[in-house]
Amino acid sequence: MTIKPKITPIYQTSVFKFDDLNELEQYFGEPGSRYLYSRNGNPNSDELADKVNELEGGAGAIATGSGMAAIFAAIAALCQAGDHVLCAADIYGGSSALLNAELSRMGIVVTYVPFEQLYDLAQFVQPTTRLLLAETISNPLLRVADLRRLAAECHVHGLKLVVDNTFASPVITRPLALGADIVLHSVTKYISGHSDVTAGVVVAADAEVAARLKQIGVFYGLTLSPMESWLAVRGLKTLRIRMREHSYNALVVAQFLAAHPRVRQVNYPGLETHPQHALALEQGAGQFGGMLSFLLEDDAEVVNGFMRRSQRFPFAPSLAGVDSSLSYPLGTSHRSLTVEQQAALGITVGLVRLSVGIEPVEELLADLAQALS
Ligand code: PLP
Repeated sequence: MTIKPKITPIYQTSVFKFDDLNELEQYFGEPGSRYLYSRNGNPNSDELADKVNELEGGAGAIATGSGMAAIFAAIAALCQAGDHVLCAADIYGGSSALLNAELSRMGIVVTYVPFEQLYDLAQFVQPTTRLLLAETISNPLLRVADLRRLAAECHVHGLKLVVDNTFASPVITRPLALGADIVLHSVTKYISGHSDVTAGVVVAADAEVAARLKQIGVFYGLTLSPMESWLAVRGLKTLRIRMREHSYNALVVAQFLAAHPRVRQVNYPGLETHPQHALALEQGAGQFGGMLSFLLEDDAEVVNGFMRRSQRFPFAPSLAGVDSSLSYPLGTSHRSLTVEQQAALGITVGLVRLSVGIEPVEELLADLAQALS
């Protein structure tokens, strides 16, 4: 009997068998010819890495146990003790916590670059600076980086550009095509898309960097399990149509909130009032994604009231699932920042972040209307 499954089965095994020493030598002599041990490679994690690599147009990728592991792998692939990195000040709080609390202990120092100065790096660059880390669309204020311009500015100074493309997904922006050197994702978010996976992926434009990433994944044990990889691959199959629906719904929700008297400001690149709207339109091929943030009165009880009344946006501090959710950057993702840093970025008591799902949009609007009432 020949079994021909239409999709890749889950290879739920930690190790693979060899008949003899010749097969072992074949494993080492012909890379990619067989599998040895799942931390070093597994058909499911390779399938995920290969699929994202193809979507992002890279030279090679690794799947990791989380988005944080992806960020760590990217920095570790390009830096060593004594090096300096630049990081956009508008960044996921976990990324800055990793740099501040952990990589600093390993001798990698960081300088944060305010959004307005991203294209003028001369004053921040040191002889040991290796890279700049930035997000395509920033968390949680939805600022859009001009990646072509940023890559050119980095390369003038001999830096690599590492882009966290989690909020955009490769459907909306492909950073490597714009000049970035590494692109990474929290696969936990849009790539898997159903709030049931924790995973990451890192894609390199250069084959040598991709090989180094693979080595780092294996040595540090950052690699992803077969089951998580399989779930992420299943989610990835609908990424294109999910992004279309997320983007449509988020624009309608953003327009609704922008017109609401209790909302002071809405951050969504699809709104014409957004400072980088024209760039987002061009760089995102007309789609702006499912994430937005908005400002209520800076009063925790106003925010609490909204959270308690909303039925369709549960407070669940993640994002990008097919079901909508809400997060509170000041108390979750950006909690580790100092009060001054939070204030400088505009992360205040009244800031609420929405992850707009793919439900019928009228139901989302009705829920928001009653929750804001
Ligand atoms: N990058 C961004 C933009 C994120 O929002 C997150 C998590 O929220 C991460 C990276 C970290 O990903 P993970 O939670 O999968 O480790």
